[in-house]
Amino acid sequence: CQGCEAFSFMTDVTQERILAALRQVKDPERGNDIVSLGMVSGVQIREGHVGFAIEVEPERGPRLEPLRKAAEKAVADLDGVLSASVVLTAHKQAARPAAAQQQGPHAGHRHAPQKPLVPEVRSIVAVASGKGGVGKSTVAVNLALALAANGLKVGLLDADIYGPSQPRLLGLKGRPHTKDGKILEPMEAFGIKTMSIGFLVNEDQAMIWRGPMVMSALQQMLRDVNWGALDVMIVDMPPGTGDAQLTMAQQVPLAGAVIVSTPQDLALLDARKGIAMFRKVEVPILGIVENMSYFLCPHCGERTDIFAHGGARHEAEKLGVPFLGEVPLDLAIRETSDGGTPIVASAPQSKYAEIFRAMAAQVASQLGAEPLAPPKIVVE
Ligand code: ADP
Repeated sequence: CQGCEAFSFMTDVTQERILAALRQVKDPERGNDIVSLGMVSGVQIREGHVGFAIEVEPERGPRLEPLRKAAEKAVADLDGVLSASVVLTAHKQAARPAAAQQQGPHAGHRHAPQKPLVPEVRSIVAVASGKGGVGKSTVAVNLALALAANGLKVGLLDADIYGPSQPRLLGLKGRPHTKDGKILEPMEAFGIKTMSIGFLVNEDQAMIWRGPMVMSALQQMLRDVNWGALDVMIVDMPPGTGDAQLTMAQQVPLAGAVIVSTPQDLALLDARKGIAMFRKVEVPILGIVENMSYFLCPHCGERTDIFAHGGARHEAEKLGVPFLGEVPLDLAIRETSDGGTPIVASAPQSKYAEIFRAMAAQVASQLGAEPLAPPKIVVE
């Protein structure tokens, strides 16, 4: 309609309109608005979806949730804005899980012109699920090991701040070392490097962390860890598709995401939400994995489809995303996972290891990830 077109400039989502709206939001403790105070950073606009960070001193973080909400609302209420997601980020020295020292502020937004969080990592891949308990962490660790088995240099970042499981899955205990008191050395198991909040805080320590602390912990585990040169970093995401996951997906420069689902319909519904979330932040979906797909009897070898099996493959086709494969429900997978010896490493000859290596090959080919050694020049 010509009439609408004539007025479309009013609903174009621009940085100016966003900042104008944010000038109405006052920092209750400092009296002035958050734009004049220079607290707004990393504004990004993508097809009506807006994200930015508000930089605050870490000690004020917990008190400023109402400010964050007010800023979010001010922007979300603008005509033409489809969604607004705002994070509080630690401005100075953050409350840190490690002994390291903060190098600087920054929200680390995907397109903000900042020093990359992990400059030597070629591709970061999120492993996510719509809900907990579907085997996301199990798939993440075995996929990481399978990528390594296929000849790639691999890191595994456990971003599940509230329920870290990689230390247990990899059978790792103890704390990471630091050579200079600033940068942590990653832990290593079965030839992959890894970092988890589980190495930095005691297991019994209640993790009643707030958004900003979670974000700074995540950034530190990327920026302040000596990951070195890696072909692929697998990120074991926290389960679900809420704001926390969305923010995380925006904070880390992801090359793609793998969605883990069980065959149940409900889980698939959740998986769809996961896919929608990554699409919203323009992260390509590398594929869906159907975990606990069928039951293979360890005694007679008979296969039983416990749930309506095949749902994920069908769903993947419908959604136009690759189907990476199905992993059966098997005691051997549970025992090796929970025993700290993931099946790809402990039973490389098994059919399950083979399944994960095939998945890894599909993921690697989508990333264009050839083994890093011998070094070669990559033109991007
Ligand atoms: P999530 O990360 O989604 O919460 P986990 O990877 O922690 O899930 O898995 C939940 C539980 O299910 C763990 O005890 C794990 O060993 C088990 N499990 C995961 N996948 C399988 C499988 N394919 N067969 C048998 N047990 C599995």
